[in-house]
Amino acid sequence: MAAETSKEETRKKKQEPSEITFNCQRCGRQKPLQEMRSVTRFVPVLIVCQDCQKEMQ
Ligand SMILES: [Zn+2]
Repeated sequence: MAAETSKEETRKKKQEPSEITFNCQRCGRQKPLQEMRSVTRFVPVLIVCQDCQKEMQ
């Protein structure tokens, strides 16, 4: 019983709402999803962070 409980806790810890990140295709840095911008001028579409997007305008 006790072992089951601890296993459950471990699983819960791993399921923490993980922040979704992406790798900017320009600077290569890992950024939160909120900073993700797609540059549709490029084919295929370039997924960059907002900093890079500003620089590319
Ligand atoms: Zn970037």
